[in-house]
Amino acid sequence: MRLFAATLATETNTFSPIPTSLDSYREVVFLKPGEHPTDAPRMCTAPLFVARRRAAAEGFDLIEGSCFAASPAGLTSRQGYETMRDQILKELQAAMPVDGVLLGLHGAMVAHGYDDVEGDILERVRAVTGPGVVIGVELDPHCHLTIKRVQLADVIITYKEFPHTDVVERAEEVLDLVLARLRGTARPVMSVYDCRQIASYPTTLPLMRAFVDRIKALEGKDGILSISIAHCFPYGDVAELGTRVLVIADGDKAKGAALATRLGEELIGMRGKTAPDYLDVATAVGTAMAANAAPVVVAEPADNAGGGAPSDNTTVLRELIARGAEDAALGPIWDPVAVRLCFDAGLGAHFPLRFGGRTGPQSGQPVDATVEVTALVRDAWQSFGPTRVPVGDCAAVRIGGVDVVLISKRTQALGLELFSNVGIDPLTRKILVVKSTNHFMAAFGPIAKRVLYVDSDAPLARDYRRIAYTKVQRPIWPLDAETKPGIIY
Ligand SMILES: [Zn+2]
Repeated sequence: MRLFAATLATETNTFSPIPTSLDSYREVVFLKPGEHPTDAPRMCTAPLFVARRRAAAEGFDLIEGSCFAASPAGLTSRQGYETMRDQILKELQAAMPVDGVLLGLHGAMVAHGYDDVEGDILERVRAVTGPGVVIGVELDPHCHLTIKRVQLADVIITYKEFPHTDVVERAEEVLDLVLARLRGTARPVMSVYDCRQIASYPTTLPLMRAFVDRIKALEGKDGILSISIAHCFPYGDVAELGTRVLVIADGDKAKGAALATRLGEELIGMRGKTAPDYLDVATAVGTAMAANAAPVVVAEPADNAGGGAPSDNTTVLRELIARGAEDAALGPIWDPVAVRLCFDAGLGAHFPLRFGGRTGPQSGQPVDATVEVTALVRDAWQSFGPTRVPVGDCAAVRIGGVDVVLISKRTQALGLELFSNVGIDPLTRKILVVKSTNHFMAAFGPIAKRVLYVDSDAPLARDYRRIAYTKVQRPIWPLDAETKPGIIY
């Protein structure tokens, strides 16, 4: 038995002012066949990683293809996408005949000329393999689960957890189902229910936690092989944006459709209740300053680099400075130029620095202040689970009672090292402001005495009615009050 595996992934914020080029992939994951490291999967490469580990023991040959992944930002260039896609297709062609294909995709990638990149990849992969080959796909739940993809693949599974702590487990399941289909021990059939809603579903909050635990308990019995919730990615303006429920049943499509409908209707009943409450900037800062337990973690999802935002909005920082906050730290602000200036000024320097507020109108105004350079670190990093995420050269600057972490490799706040690497002990701070939607919770949740969520004027508005969609199919909640949910596949 022969399986082929490859990855091509990013999360595209179609509103982001930061283009994604081939170089953006070279900076993150750009691995030729056989080059994938053995320690841990990289972004969206878990299907290949898992299949490599299991191949010998389970009696199949793995033919490795290339893996390409870039950090979330704006559209991928047409030429860049086609180059990477055609490279993988060429490798697949050379690997033929294969029995199965495993793809690690994100699911919310958009390139110039391609609104449904993953659908395009699947169409071309299917054209190479023909109809008999089993295609299994792992997607991030922040994806657009288009009908085209479900028609072309045999098995699609998304991560269940947000923060995404179950990437490897879900990849194991993709492989399990592909192998079961090939061995004739299961016949996966997919059904999709469209909830017609845009929403955020952190699984760290009680309602979604209970929901995810419940759907996990439904799997592996009574003919239900797998259940995925495609949360949606609200910042990708494409036709099929929206929350969808995908059930894979063993041969019985009607049974899968019935369960998808039941779960989809439950999610509709949870509209407006799955995301935390968002405070305006003044209220969030005021509440954090008045709290008597420390640290208070203030999350700013609207400037989350993990959703394609620049991470250089200064509105929350300016509020902290204006109100004279003490023992506060904020990070990260992506500003490679300011980092360079801090290195040039030197450790301990007090000097006038302009930083932040650079990339676009939703970055706000830059901060102009006399700062003290309190730390300079080359090639810094932070942890996200077992993964080390580079933040590049890094500087910490102090303005009054506020410390700011400036980074040169754009990424969201994930690990405590973001602060501790530059001498800021997150445990002893009264206020920690982190630019992240929910991934920060894995590391900062356990140390936070309280978590507040702020909705700023940065680009990832939490009120989706403020987003200038042009392509999203209507009606859809919360843009429209009346919607028509139902089974679409
Ligand atoms: Zn995601």
